[in-house]
Order: sequence, then structure tokens, then C-alpha cells
Amino acid sequence: MEDGKPVWAPHPADGFQLGTIVDIGADSLTIEPLKQKGKTFLAPINQVFPAEDDPNKHVEDNCSLMYLNEATLLNNVRVRYSKDKIYTFVANILIAVNPYYDIPKLYSPETIKQYRGRSLGTLPPHVYAIADKAYRDMKVLKMSQSIIVSGESGAGKTENTKFVLRYLTTSYGTGQDIDERIVEANPLLEAFGNAKTVRNNNSSRFGKFVEIHFNEKNAVVGGFVSHYLLEKSRICRQGPEERNYHIFYRLCAGAPEDIRQKFHLSSPDTFRYLNRGCTRFFATKDTDKNIMQNRKSPEVEGGCAIKNQSSQTLEHCAELLGLDQEDLRVSLTTRVMLTTAGGAKGTVIKVPLKVEQANNARDALAKAVYSRLFDHVVTRVNQCFPFDSSANFIGVLDIAGFEYFEHNSFEQFCINYCNEKLQQFFNERILKEEQELYQREGLGVNEVHYVDNQDCIDLVEAKLVGILDILDEENRLPQPSDQHFTDTVHNKHKDHFRLTVPRKSKLAVHRNVRDDEGFIIRHFAGAVCYETTKFVEKNNDALHMSLACLVSESKDRFIRELFENSNNSKDVKQKAGKLSFISVGNKFKTQLNILLEKLRSTGSSFIRCIKPNLKMVSHQFEGAQILSQLQCSGMVSVLDLMQGGFPSRAPFHELYNMYQSYMPPKLTRLDPRLFCKALFKALGLNENDYKFGLTRVFFRPGKFAEFDQIMKSD
Ligand code: ATP
Ligand code: MG
Repeated sequence: MEDGKPVWAPHPADGFQLGTIVDIGADSLTIEPLKQKGKTFLAPINQVFPAEDDPNKHVEDNCSLMYLNEATLLNNVRVRYSKDKIYTFVANILIAVNPYYDIPKLYSPETIKQYRGRSLGTLPPHVYAIADKAYRDMKVLKMSQSIIVSGESGAGKTENTKFVLRYLTTSYGTGQDIDERIVEANPLLEAFGNAKTVRNNNSSRFGKFVEIHFNEKNAVVGGFVSHYLLEKSRICRQGPEERNYHIFYRLCAGAPEDIRQKFHLSSPDTFRYLNRGCTRFFATKDTDKNIMQNRKSPEVEGGCAIKNQSSQTLEHCAELLGLDQEDLRVSLTTRVMLTTAGGAKGTVIKVPLKVEQANNARDALAKAVYSRLFDHVVTRVNQCFPFDSSANFIGVLDIAGFEYFEHNSFEQFCINYCNEKLQQFFNERILKEEQELYQREGLGVNEVHYVDNQDCIDLVEAKLVGILDILDEENRLPQPSDQHFTDTVHNKHKDHFRLTVPRKSKLAVHRNVRDDEGFIIRHFAGAVCYETTKFVEKNNDALHMSLACLVSESKDRFIRELFENSNNSKDVKQKAGKLSFISVGNKFKTQLNILLEKLRSTGSSFIRCIKPNLKMVSHQFEGAQILSQLQCSGMVSVLDLMQGGFPSRAPFHELYNMYQSYMPPKLTRLDPRLFCKALFKALGLNENDYKFGLTRVFFRPGKFAEFDQIMKSD
């Protein structure tokens, strides 16, 4: 960077602004913004980046710019977005900015046809280009492929996932039912697993990995969906302006009369679990719709009873769950305990629950029923596209990106742990493999350093000392507490680089909790402060014993099977009286490790989705928050690698085929490698701008595009 040359300097709203350097200090620069001549400001040196000569120029592959940095990437994406070009490549990684409106013809059947069989880079960047590359790689390399779609809530992951599935089944299906079913499974999964949130009106509250399986002839034979971490807290409670899962409102609004009667449906306003979020935003106080209410009752002192007997809530509930009404009442208001007092062998006693405990029991039952129902829906969906055998698959991962809210709880902890693992995978694939390629091709390029996040992953998942295992230990204590769990985490990892105690102000003031009730984890994408209140509760998937036994003996076969399948009820009964615990965190860890093993055994492509603005409207590009998404997605380290390396490359034979027609016949008789050497000499290319590897030519950033232009203009 030199005086007078255009640079990108930080801007609070736009991310970056153009300016020129007017003075250079020890660690900061004085910048004169282009839009405010005469005014200057100071910017840290490491946040000022060289700009391209023409800031209005945009390129399909960001690597054909001269300067690869976060500012030129942001600008390229911005210029393209203003022209409705929402997709941009950074080498093989696809960036997709949510347009928040339907761009004409972008996903039309004609467009699908265009991309079929075409190499990456021959047509404008598109999610179809990635889908087709995955397919061709699968076919040529005879290897399964995965497409990892990431981004924050509302960035467009699910929409892009659907476009990939639609593309593959349309282009490479057999034209039979199965193709359509793979696509049509989505509305069903979304009805049960998506909800309106403040960030996205159709937010997926679960993660999924959808595999499309292909036979030896590379035609679609079936599919398989795995799902992760359905958000259960939403069943019982929704934030302001948020809703429960779509299915409830759809049933209330549109179920046929016989179903309305059978399920005792009425307006969402009449259901406790539906009326406290979006439809009745102001009704946040407990209203008379509570099922439970405190009642001083002489027979169960300190206990509680079920309210609304007259409104038949309990009766309907018992009827639909296939339970005896009285049994359900007892199970919701008491807990069965085994006493061993006085040497007596296990006397069963019923301990009345306090209102809060009974409320929790009711909520736990609702959550258990719904999450098992969701498992069942996924199982049924999978039965719709069965296959006997398959040669390979293409899997699409649609899972929430890194989350950092004002309050972060167990859900964010799990999702960020997941993203930490996916980031490691991304580093492995993009950064390590890039370096390995340079080595294989004998380029002798300096190694690029990136921060390995294994220590952060270990902090969460290591045996015994990892946070997940510490939490499980806590859950197994007779009287687990979030506070004790938090203290144990801090004690076991006193000087851990990735872990710190939150400062008093952050937590205590907001939530009126003890100031050390939580921890801060330094993630790859930034530090996140987790509040550990409810970690213990949220980590337990088990119902309390009385309820677990009750539902596993339901008269309704469907309900009985829901609970039999996912939870060995005999085992549960044997353990009756003991505290039962099923770990949510460790189940997720196991699932995640299976997923990563699968990903590592496939070829991979990455789609980074970007949310352009918080208002969820079209044509609004909020630079600063888009920049932070690009940083979180690991794109910046990719750019660093590329800027120091040779991001554009072309095999000798491809260059030969592309340019032989421009060359005299004498040259075209040479073999492709010599042909390229002769060509570059003849054009007088600067030897610093390219390197010859064993099989291909590598170009410095921007240089391949320059070369191509010379060739075509000559
Ligand atoms: P979450 O993590 O909350 O599930 P997400 O990343 O899956 O979010 P989507 O549901 O895919 O986000 O997208 C949010 C909304 O943005 C969509 O409902 C749709 O209205 C709009 N949208 C996303 N991608 C596109 C697109 N390519 N074209 C038009 N609209 C889009
Ligand atoms: Mg989604």
C-alpha cells in the first residue's frame, strides 16, 4: 500500500469505505475517505487493505482479483448483489447471498438444463454448478460427495439445500416417484421442524443431512435423512414475536372437521403452548389457561393440583395419549420414589410435586412426546425412498451456523461445538489440501499458518475432563446443580486458553444470577459467553419415572411405540426409583462424530450462505454485518492463503485446448506443457506471476484473468 493509492478502511455500517492514505504511523494509518474529502481519520494498519483500481468491477471468481482480502471480497459480493448476482465463487467455495425475493429464472428448468455436465467456472456461479460438480466428481472419482451448507439463521441454507436436491433429482433421477418424494419430504419436515423466529419466518429448528443415493449407473435410487438436535424448548415456550412449530397452527387453521373433533382443536389462542408467543404477544403473564395452579390442599401439603378440570384439558390429554385420566393426574402431580429406610427393601412412596416441579413434568412430557413424534416423522420419511443397495451418495448438510446472541444457553453451546468441528473439517479440506497440492506439484510455496481449533474441540468433548462429560457427571449426582457444574468446569480448566470466567457485569446484571454462573469460550469465530442456568435440565432427555412408566404402557399403540422404540421401557422400569438420565449432549457428540467420519470419507464442497440484512428485505446490503459473517465462515483465512499462494490454476492440457487455435501450427505440435511454456515466453509474462507445477500452471491472484484477456484480445 502506498500514499495516494486507493485503500479500503473500516466503516462502522458498511464494513469498509474507500479512501487514500495520507500519513503512515507506527501501527495506524491516517485515511482520507473518498466521500468526505478533507476529513481524515485513523485506522489500525491491519484493518486497512489495498483496493482494486476499479471499485465497480466485479468478478465471478473472487480469486481473479489482484488483491484478495476481506475488503475486496466484501466489495465484489456487494457489487454483484446490486446486480442480482447473488452467487460468487472463491475458488471452489460458493458464497450465496439471500436475495429475499425471487430472482426471475434463476432456478428455472432451463437453468437446470444449462448447468448439466458443465465444469465449474464455465457458467456463472450458481448452486447448480456446485451440485453438478459434486455429481461429476462422484461419477469420475467413484466416491461419495458431500455439500456443506452453512450460514446464520435466515441466510438461505434450507432454500439452497432444496435447490441442490431438486437439481440432482431432476437432472439425474430416473423420472420415477422417488425423485419427487425426495423433494417433497421437505415440506413435511419443515411443518414439524420449522417455526417462525425473530430471525427467520421459516427457521429450521433442527439440523439435517440429506443423502441422495445413486446406483452403479449413477442414477438416483433412494434417499436418507439424518436429523440433529431438534429444539425442544420451543414446544413449551416461545420468545416474543416467535411461534411454536408450524404444524400446530396449520392443524388449528386447516384440519378437516373429523380431525378437529378428534383432536379437540380450536383457535391457537386457547392453547397454552401456542398463545404466548407471536399470536398473543402481550399475554406473557400466566393466564387462566395454565394447566397447573397453586392450590393449598389439605391432603397434599405443599403439592399442587390440576386446574381447568372443567375445561376438560386433562381428559382430552389423557384420551389422546391413551392414558387413564386419573393415572395421568397422579403422574403429573407426584413423583414415585423408592425408599430403603429402615432396611425395608424398596418401599414405593408418592411424593407430591411443587407447582414448579409439576409444571416441569408437564413440559417434559410435552417435549418428550413431540421429539419422539419428530423422530417418527423422519423415520417415516425415510421409508418413502428406500433403496436396497447404492454405489455412492451425495449428502447435503443443512445445519445452523455459529450463533452468538445476547443470551447464550445449552442450545448455542451445542451448535457452536458443532460448528467448531465443521470449521476444523473446512480447514482440513481447504487449507491443508491446498498446501498439500502445492507440495505435490513441487511449487515450494511457504506454508500458511492457520489456527488449529483442536484444543477448543477437546475442551468440549474430551473424555472425563471435557465440558460434556463434566455435565453428564453433574446430571448423575443425586442433586445436580448448574452452579456446581460451572464451578467444576472452571476448576478443571483453570488456565485453559479457550476458557474464561465471565466478568460480573455481563451476566449478573442482566439475569440476576451469581456472577460466575457461566463461562466464556473462545471459539474460532469469536468469544461467546454461555449462561449455564438450565444446562443440567436441558442435558437430560429422560422423563421422570412415573411419567416414563405411564406413557410406555399407553393404551394407544402409536404412543406406546413412540416410547418403546426410543427408550427401552423395561430397562426404565427396572431402574424405577433411581434417577434416570439420558444425555442430550453426549448423544449429539456421538451423532456428530458419525457425521464427521462420513464427511471425511467423501469429497466435499462448501456453500457459505450470507444474510444481507436483519430486516429480511430485498436489495439491502448491510456491509458490516455481512463482513462479520464472512469472517465467521472462515473465508478470511482462505483469502490469506490464496493471496500468498496461487489461487488460479489450469491443467496444461486445458490451456492447450483453450488457446491452440490462437497459436501458429509450429507451437501446437509441442506437448501441452512445453506449449504453455513457449506461450508464456512469447507473451512475455512476468515469471513471478505464475509457476509451473507437475500437471498444471498456477497463477498469482488476478493473473490468470489478465492472461486470458491478453489471449482473447490478441
Ligand atoms: P435457519 O437457520 O433459520 O433455518 P436458513 O439459513 O435455513 O435459516 P432459509 O429458510 O433457507 O434460511 O431462508 C430464509 C428465507 O429467505 C426463505 O424463507 C426465503 O424467503 C428467503 N430466501 C432464501 N434464499 C432465497 C433465494 N435463493 N431466493 C429467494 N428467496 C430466498
Ligand atoms: Mg433452515
